[in-house]
Amino acid sequence: MAGFTFPPSRAEALQRLARFVPAAGRIYERERNTDAGPEQPSRVSLLSPYVRHRVITEYEILAEVLADHSLSVAEKFVQEVLWRTYWKGWMEMRPSVWARFLQERDRHRDSFHDQRAIADAENGSTGIEGFDDWAKELVETGYLHNHARMWFASIWIFTLRLPWTLGADFFLRHLLDADVASNTLSWRWVAGLQTVGKTYLATTDNISRYTNGRFAPKGLAHEAIALTEPAVEPANNLAPLPPHDPLQPALLLVTHDDMHPESIFKRDYDVRSTLVAADPDLLCGDGGRRFVTTLAKDMSARALEHFDCPAHVINTLDVETLITSANDAGVRHIITPYAPVGPVTEALATLARPLAKEGITLVRVQREWDRRFWPHAKKGFFAFKERMPDLLRESGLI
Ligand SMILES: Cc1cc2nc3c(=O)[nH]c(=O)nc-3n(C[C@H](O)[C@H](O)[C@H](O)COP(=O)(O)OP(=O)(O)OC[C@H]3O[C@@H](n4cnc5c(N)ncnc54)[C@H](O)[C@@H]3O)c2cc1C
Repeated sequence: MAGFTFPPSRAEALQRLARFVPAAGRIYERERNTDAGPEQPSRVSLLSPYVRHRVITEYEILAEVLADHSLSVAEKFVQEVLWRTYWKGWMEMRPSVWARFLQERDRHRDSFHDQRAIADAENGSTGIEGFDDWAKELVETGYLHNHARMWFASIWIFTLRLPWTLGADFFLRHLLDADVASNTLSWRWVAGLQTVGKTYLATTDNISRYTNGRFAPKGLAHEAIALTEPAVEPANNLAPLPPHDPLQPALLLVTHDDMHPESIFKRDYDVRSTLVAADPDLLCGDGGRRFVTTLAKDMSARALEHFDCPAHVINTLDVETLITSANDAGVRHIITPYAPVGPVTEALATLARPLAKEGITLVRVQREWDRRFWPHAKKGFFAFKERMPDLLRESGLI
């Protein structure tokens, strides 16, 4: 299948953004729901694999868009970008939802009675028009249009009656933008777990209309009865991170959760050396691993230029490598962009104590963007959206 490709570099992300900006207003608002297929020009930005890894940031995207369009004209696009921020903030305050997903997924992997049906769904051999094509498109390109993700998840859950966690896992293993918060919470939303009782039902008419008639699947479920689960724990408050001294000589650790440290650690930081981690164990699929490995090389070249210090790519994020690198750089501090809920955070949490035993502090530094927006993700997106103009103003974007 020919189709969308995602060359792994920041230069590509910036060019893609520049090409997209003129259409980010009314054109996006009108046409964003149409999935014309991977061989057709797209009206969406195709930026998600880059912004997911923060090769380009939400701030940068919105700065370019709002320099060209007023907020009222680009409101739809701005809201979509803020969905990512919202989901991350929501998950950050309820990490138990990620832990629950992992437990359920592992339970279903081991014990779901119809493994053949899972294999058919993943291979695109269910006989359901559209669904089979999206399964193949996902595996081949590492991307699906948002509407196709919604239809696919809905058919997986309500027509095929397969466990939602295994569908979410299939996405995590193949999407180049595979993301703990956006993926888990979007699947939960389709299933009626996220907005409790409210599901998303894919219909033949809607699919036919928004695929320009490419697909009109037969035999889809006519109703979507919400799945149920024990109540989710109340939201934690986001604790402020301890203050740190930027002037302390430091080793910079970059992970695939935030690959634009230049916009956090300005030139007043005393960075003596940079490590860019592309650890395959912290990623789910081969496509994502290849994507991140090349992004890491791109990142390390930028680090050399921006921080004027040696930079290396490492493929295991382990304590020995960090201690040796800190010793080689002659520093006792490791600074790293704050990683949200997910495998990187879990790995960093296990490293902090053995590092401390060696007298090395691991300092996680949060972006102003996350500090500003995340606390407002306690409730639904509507309440978050209400705060949007103020938060964009505080960020200097309008
Ligand atoms: C079941 C399901 C699973 C999903 N899994 C993921 C995932 O693992 N990773 C991921 O990044 N996105 C996920 N999404 C959200 C969304 O589909 C993608 O971010 C979007 O398709 C990206 O394409 P784009 O960059 O061309 O989007 P555009 O329409 O151009 O949007 C611009 C940016 O806004 C953000 N955005 C747009 N729509 C959404 C959305 N619904 N939720 C969150 N952010 C959004 C993305 O950062 C995107 O790059 C999922 C959605 C569904 C329904």
